[in-house]
Formats: sequence, C-alpha cells, structure tokens
Amino acid sequence: MMQFSIPDVLQILAKEVAGYAVPIVDLIGVQTKDPYKVLVATILSARTKDETTAKAAAKLFKEAPDLAGLADLSEERLTKLIFPVGFYKNKAKFLARLPGVLASEFNNQIPDEVEPLTRLPGVGRKTANLVVAVAFKKPAICVDTHVHRIMNIWGYVETKTPLETEMALREKLPPEYWLSINSTLVAFGQGTCRPVAPHCDRCVIARFCPQLGVRPRKIEGKSRKKNEAGMRKFVSWNVNGLRAVEKKGFVEILANLNADLVALQEIKAQPEQLSETIKNIPGYTAYWFSAQKKGYAGVATYSKEEPLSVIYGIDHKDHDYEGRVLTLEFADFYFINAYFPNAQHGLLRMDYKLQFNRDLQTFANTLAKQKSVVICGDFNVAHKEIDLTNPKQNEKNPGYAPQERAWMDEFLGTGFVDTFRMFNQEPGRYTWWSYRFNARERNLGWRIDYFCVDQKSTKRVTEVAILNDIMGSDHCPVLLGFR
Ligand code: SF4
Repeated sequence: MMQFSIPDVLQILAKEVAGYAVPIVDLIGVQTKDPYKVLVATILSARTKDETTAKAAAKLFKEAPDLAGLADLSEERLTKLIFPVGFYKNKAKFLARLPGVLASEFNNQIPDEVEPLTRLPGVGRKTANLVVAVAFKKPAICVDTHVHRIMNIWGYVETKTPLETEMALREKLPPEYWLSINSTLVAFGQGTCRPVAPHCDRCVIARFCPQLGVRPRKIEGKSRKKNEAGMRKFVSWNVNGLRAVEKKGFVEILANLNADLVALQEIKAQPEQLSETIKNIPGYTAYWFSAQKKGYAGVATYSKEEPLSVIYGIDHKDHDYEGRVLTLEFADFYFINAYFPNAQHGLLRMDYKLQFNRDLQTFANTLAKQKSVVICGDFNVAHKEIDLTNPKQNEKNPGYAPQERAWMDEFLGTGFVDTFRMFNQEPGRYTWWSYRFNARERNLGWRIDYFCVDQKSTKRVTEVAILNDIMGSDHCPVLLGFR
C-alpha cells in the first residue's frame, strides 16, 4: 500500500499542474458557467484529445449556443460539426436526441445529480460525475481512465474498473478532494504520468510513488538516458478491422502514440475500401498487404521514415494470398509485421498454421543473417501458462495447443527473443480478451501479440509495454522501444 499521505501528494500535484494546460471540460466550466455547455463538452471529450474537443466544441457552440439551438440541428449537421472527435457518429446521434429527452423528462433543465444524468443519451457515470462536479460544484468523484490508472499505480486503491475505483474513493478519499481530483489527475496524466511511457524521470512525486504496474517503464527510464538520441518507438496492434477501429478513434490513437512504425494486423480491408483519412495520415506513409479475399486478414504498416525496400509476403504461394506478412527494410534492421493464422476450432487448420510458422521462421532467419530483425504481430499463440488466464481448460484449443506452443519454443530457442519477457515475468499481462463474458473488464485474457527480436539485437531493446488501456479492438497494442 502507498506509504505517503494523499493530502501531501495532492498538494504537490496541485501546484505542479497549475502550469499545465487546463482540461477542456474544466476550462469550459470556468469560462461559461453553463451546465449545457459543460454537458455537451463532456460528451464530446470522451476518448478525444482536449485540443480536438476544444475545436469541435467551439464549432458546435457557434451554431448551437444553447439547448434550443441544439434542437435545431440535424444529426447530419451535428456529425459534420463535431468531426473528428472519437466516436463522432455515435456522439452526433446522442446530441440529436438530447434536447428531446431533456424536454420530456427534465423540463428542459440539465439535472444536477448523477443518477438522473445517466438517463441522458451518451451520458455514463463518468460523464455524469464530471458534469455534477464541474457544472454544479457538487461533491462527485469523476473517475476517468487517468484517475483509475494513477490511483492504482500509487496503490491508493486496488481496483479493476473505473467504477470500482469510484466506489473505493468514495470510501476513503477526503471529501475536500472530490471536486478537484479529476482535473488534477487528468492534467497530471496527460502531462507527466502518461499511459504510455510516463515521465517518471521528471515526476515531482517520483520519490513517493511505488510505480505499481509500471515496471517496464522504470527499466526504459534507466536505459533511455544513454540511448535517447537514437531511440525509436514501434507499435503493433491487431485492430480486428481497420474500418471498424476508424470509427472508434483510430486516427487520434495513432497521433497520441506518436510511434515511428505502427504495424497493424487483421485490417480486413483492401486500400480502395478505406477512407482517405486512414490512407493519408499526416507524418506517415502507409504500406498495405491485404488478403485477396475481401474482409479477411491483411496487414498494414505506417512508417514515418521511408524504408529502403518493402517486401510483400514471404514469396510463398500458399501464404501470400492471405495478406499475412509485410516487411520494411531500413538501414540497420528489418521490420516484419506478421499476422499468424488461427489454428481454428477443432484445430482444423493446424497443419497449415504450422507450415506458415516454419516458412515465416525461415524467412526471418534469412533476413537476420544480414541485419537486425524485429518481428511483431498477432502470433495467435499464448506461449506459457502465465500467458493466459485458463491454461488447463485451453490445452486442446487453438492458440494454446501443444503443437503451437512447441513451435513457439522452437522459434524462441533458435535465435529469437520474446522482448516482453526480457523485462516482465508477471502473470495476468494480456493482449487479447474475448468480447464475451466481460472478459476484458475481468482481465480474463491471453497474451498472443508479441515483439520479438533476433538474439544478437536484444541490446537494442530499450522498453516494452502492453498498452491495455487503448480500446477499439479485442486486442490491445503492444510497444517496443528500439535504438
Ligand atoms: S513516478 Fe511515474 S508512475 Fe509514479 S506518478 Fe510519477 S510519472 Fe506516474
């Protein structure tokens, strides 16, 4: 448990974040003192950068300065005005319905309590708490991803979901901090204690913080000092449909990650089926290797740097039509983005999968004779017992069958290294969760997405992370720092 007093820490942080940008919802609250604008800005701000929310809110409030103005706008117009906030289509639907619900159930007044607020379209508990705290200055604890994450990093709570965190904080956080905790920790979470690679090196409370669950970043912090100049950041993510994840804020997630290379698997699309936005993300060139069959498999890699060459597939007729491997060559390394086949129910595709694995291994070994090789992607196998929640029940299932794990043993025994396990030996660190049974919330998952490097390149690895707070797919992204 945390060894320092919460009043002391929050006092230090309040001073610290006074110089940071004010979270957008607070800013709108202070500037307008208008519950309508706070409510709408809060709805817009979910899964959206403050900068984007601010621009969208300004455009919207110009045409809809009040509830009556909002009622005059069509859903189509709303969609245009609030683009590109995350989930803009859904949010436009909610905003279009909002005036009607407020008129019929609340006499055109914005409720000032959490429960009635949650009856409004697009308003969950987090949004409701934020509106109550910011617009009405009433005691409420708004627990968003930053509050939930940081409170757990400190060990002040030990919870699995934001709702559990809210309930735990209601029990133990002194009431005088309820109103301010969200804006303090959102600003701190955006500026210093970031979800990806927090700046522990410059953190004003580092001497108190137990840094629970951020071990890889501590290691990264040590090595970064000497490697800073040449360090690159790579991300791999099975998006389970690029068109689907675009609607869930992909462009913004990519901007936040700010990685040098981003490898995507299971894009389930051919380039001509994708939006211009997705194909032309500023700062990146995208390389596509789609399956011939529409809506199936496929990989893509976004790169900031122009590669020396691009290799599509592994020159094998049995595999390449499925769009599974895309390799970018740079001066001092190859970057292989791979989507391994699923062995499928009844292990019907096991033979094909093992053949693919061996052919890819041969391909990677050949490249590794020339220069470093980074191979990432959805390997569709959990290697060891600690890599999935229920190993016993899954011994004969695809993804944990003995044949697949034996191949992984062989792959890792003959020259490649699972970089995540270089730093972290903990169980419960997963990258994929079923959409069923609330598996992600309960962390019932599998670690099947990897960054591996050839043995001689392990010294070039500076950090690894599983970015499990990034949503949008049934997989989460994984990260590698490489110099
Ligand atoms: S030391 Fe690191 S993990 Fe702890 S609060 Fe500061 S930035 Fe966050």
